[in-house]
Amino acid sequence: MKVLRNIIISLLTGILWLVVLQYFLGNRYTFADQAAYKGDSLFNPYQRIDKPEWLKGNFHAHCHAWNGITNGHGSAEEVHRAYDSLGYAIHALSNYHEIDTSLHRRPAYIPAYEHGYNIQKTHQQVLGARAIFWNDFIFPQTVHNKQSILAALQRDPQAVIVLNHPSKRQGYTLEDLKVLTGYHCMEVVSAAAKSFEEWDTALSSGKRVYIIGNDDLHNVRTGDRLGRVCTMVYAPTQRQEDILTALKEGRAYAAEIGAGQDPYRVPALLGLKVHADTVSVVLTDTAQAIRVITENGRLWKSFAHCRALSFRADTTHAYYRIEAQFENGTVLYFNPVFYSEGTSPATITASIRPVATWWHRAIGLLILLGWLLLVKRLWGPGSKRGWGRGRLQRSE
Ligand SMILES: [Zn+2]
Repeated sequence: MKVLRNIIISLLTGILWLVVLQYFLGNRYTFADQAAYKGDSLFNPYQRIDKPEWLKGNFHAHCHAWNGITNGHGSAEEVHRAYDSLGYAIHALSNYHEIDTSLHRRPAYIPAYEHGYNIQKTHQQVLGARAIFWNDFIFPQTVHNKQSILAALQRDPQAVIVLNHPSKRQGYTLEDLKVLTGYHCMEVVSAAAKSFEEWDTALSSGKRVYIIGNDDLHNVRTGDRLGRVCTMVYAPTQRQEDILTALKEGRAYAAEIGAGQDPYRVPALLGLKVHADTVSVVLTDTAQAIRVITENGRLWKSFAHCRALSFRADTTHAYYRIEAQFENGTVLYFNPVFYSEGTSPATITASIRPVATWWHRAIGLLILLGWLLLVKRLWGPGSKRGWGRGRLQRSE
């Protein structure tokens, strides 16, 4: 009985410690105003692009890892072989808290892992990772928890930090995305989840966040999700630094691959230019429909059956982003052009509130102290109460 009692007390103490650590001992932030982009000139991430030299990439795939505790089937070699056969220049394996190094001698090798083991699937992808950040908050995370994880991941200065599948289990809510900073990209489209509302919310709140599209592959053997979504990256070489810089600076777009699509010939962007306030776009293939989207995902204009188009932007909209849909089911999603005031991407604009942080910590420590006193009083040495003899018996 005594052993069982001690196990239950230890378990409850452990859970209480995790709750207090997550909700009371961490940093509290104050978030900057949620302002849309401002400025007179349009910033265009694609301005320097004039050749269709895109690298096809997938940055999110899992294989068998951690003795099968995590969801992943097939070996690293099988995953890499499968992506090689589909014309991918870049294929990062991103197991949970584990960096795959099997391709480290190849060009376009990206060391990566998926961060997060919490119940609400608030996950981040760390691309170009040099080390693993092990901590996480396991219960549903507050926006302060999420901001402090992003701040910790940012300590690796070369890494590209991506919010993974934000709409899945509401890992990131729309309210979170209005204020969170400190990440470069969002996995807006994957075979597991689409998060356009989340992306448009972040963009409409003035966050310079670029798109990534991934398979989020978990089973290479069944091929489920394999080759369905990719990111096309415009980098001068296949060196890791060039690929990471291209992602950080928005020289990429996401593609959903239609069933009839030749995987070696995904439609590409030939050019997207801004001259004064005129935006012109040229694609390699004729699209069935091209949509121009503005704040909060509003459809602003659409064009049918064309390969090239241009439109005039004006400051009534903060950004314009383009989607191109093809007859075979393939859809391309481009990063926006936006009126800019020069905020660099991934700058953390939230600041720690020291007084609120220390108040919360003091409350947390009081809760822990109260629990320890209660345990000592009820069941500690010298206490007259045994297991099962409660207040009722005493008060008789
Ligand atoms: Zn995930």
